[in-house]
Amino acid sequence: MKKIKFEKDIKIILNDKILDELKTCVKNSQPNEACGLIFGDIKEIVRAGEYYYQYIGKKFNCIESDKKSPVSFLIDNIEKLNEVFQDAAQKQNLRLISIFHSHPAGAYPSGVDTRNMKYLDNCGNNAFRNQIWTIMDAHNHELNGFIYFNEEFMQVGLEIVKD
Ligand SMILES: [Zn+2]
Repeated sequence: MKKIKFEKDIKIILNDKILDELKTCVKNSQPNEACGLIFGDIKEIVRAGEYYYQYIGKKFNCIESDKKSPVSFLIDNIEKLNEVFQDAAQKQNLRLISIFHSHPAGAYPSGVDTRNMKYLDNCGNNAFRNQIWTIMDAHNHELNGFIYFNEEFMQVGLEIVKD
């Protein structure tokens, strides 16, 4: 696989409670891929003329699916998902910050993933623009974040904090 650029100015911050929920979601979905949505806030910080983006996770929804590839299921049901987003936005003032899924081994985007990332960025629904894709290795629970930003794939920073 082509080496992915690391963008340290973009970071996703999750608390240990959400991390546990991601692991449980992965465990319950086996042998299939797990999939879910992380809601929260996106903070833009300007420091010495530089822009930093913090994606702060506050809530995780594990999507129960019997599909082998729930991410494709998600992409095929964008209209339905839009209702979930509206609900989170109106009731809890949270926005979608990350699309989560697992791989049986490895925590890097597949060819299908990068195609989907590009597709969602261009699909015209702003809720899906500049999302961080979080991918977890189902075996060792390694977790990475990726973004498609300015027509480029990048790995982003990840920080786990105490709840
Ligand atoms: Zn994948």
